[in-house]
Amino acid sequence: MLNWDDYEEDVPQALPPAFAATPVIRLEEPLRATAMIEPVAAAPVTVAPVAAAPVAVAPIAEDTVADAAPAANEAPEVYQRVTVDRKRMINCRADLNQLVPFKYDWAWQKYLDGCANHWMPQEVNMTADIALWKSEGGLTDDERVIVKRSLGFFSTADSLVANNLVLAIYRLITNPECRQYLLRQAFEEAIHTHAYQYVIESLGMDEGEIFNMYHEIPAVARKASWALRYTRAVSDPTFNTGTPDTDRALLTNLIAYYCVLEGIFFYCGFTQILSMGRRNKMTGTSEQFQYILRDESMHVNFGIDVINQIKLENPQLWDEATQQLARQMILEGTELEIEYARDTMPRGVLGMNANMMAEYLQFIANRRLAQIGLAEQFPGAKNPFPWMSEIMDLKKEKNFFETRVTEYQTGGALTWD
Ligand code: FE
Repeated sequence: MLNWDDYEEDVPQALPPAFAATPVIRLEEPLRATAMIEPVAAAPVTVAPVAAAPVAVAPIAEDTVADAAPAANEAPEVYQRVTVDRKRMINCRADLNQLVPFKYDWAWQKYLDGCANHWMPQEVNMTADIALWKSEGGLTDDERVIVKRSLGFFSTADSLVANNLVLAIYRLITNPECRQYLLRQAFEEAIHTHAYQYVIESLGMDEGEIFNMYHEIPAVARKASWALRYTRAVSDPTFNTGTPDTDRALLTNLIAYYCVLEGIFFYCGFTQILSMGRRNKMTGTSEQFQYILRDESMHVNFGIDVINQIKLENPQLWDEATQQLARQMILEGTELEIEYARDTMPRGVLGMNANMMAEYLQFIANRRLAQIGLAEQFPGAKNPFPWMSEIMDLKKEKNFFETRVTEYQTGGALTWD
């Protein structure tokens, strides 16, 4: 059996000819490079003028580092170390490669919380779901419609969110701790799409039917096309913020994706599938959705914090017309989701019906409006599904892996003793 002693003894003696030649070539390169650097270090006088003339460095640093470049009519800043007061959510001119010092601690905390909740779809046992889905009469026709429509909507909706994050938001949010969370969120969207694919494959569904629902089923297509409308302009590679109109376009995109798509459009499907799980049906699918819902509630909270921070730093953007637009978007989104509820629940199913779902969605819409500082539009709307709040409650996340194998730990939780 090989051990480290054998390895150390053998390697220098037993190198095949091809390898034996390699170290000679590779060693020469670093040595030459070192020799070139040494004279500079030994003669600091030649380095000093560069340090004393930061203006000469500045254009290169700004052009290459601040990739979400400010509007063309703004002069580039002189290079200087990043301080908290130079950090801004949009149109920031400080170096975006320097994560610290943090300005938005909440963004970093959400990144840490997201990593602590890491999960993968294959960890969920789908055996009972497969048996139930394939059994005659195991599910009613109405329940089968709900499973298919949920997978049909979500399998493409999380891709819409991911594309908007990567192609639009990431480039335009000019803050490294928020970008760190956006990278985490983007991976979570990939995990969610993976989860839907995993369920679809496990149940042996017609993939073409499910993945094309966002084109072919009107109640699903209306939601997808509503969201696509708000990403078109900002995901254009030539789009940039820096004017009141373009700054507002980004703000509108954030409201569309965080408050409406992730904040309202996901809630009918989540509630239906989780209700199924509570009735001991499709428990694996329901467990996948439960993990996704926990991630999604953090996405929404992050997005709302970003929206409110942009408003705080740019109060001129949040004028009466923009507030009216935001209100209208949330109302439109609520209406589309209620239509989806009526389409997927033509009659009572799983202890709920479309009218109860409509009230739940109005309750959620009130919450979204209040979260971005707007008045509630559905006075007295109540939550008919209080158990949904329990599932989303982030305080319970400490017990998140209670049902998982005990060996499962994320990298951040490993101990070395
Ligand atoms: Fe999401």
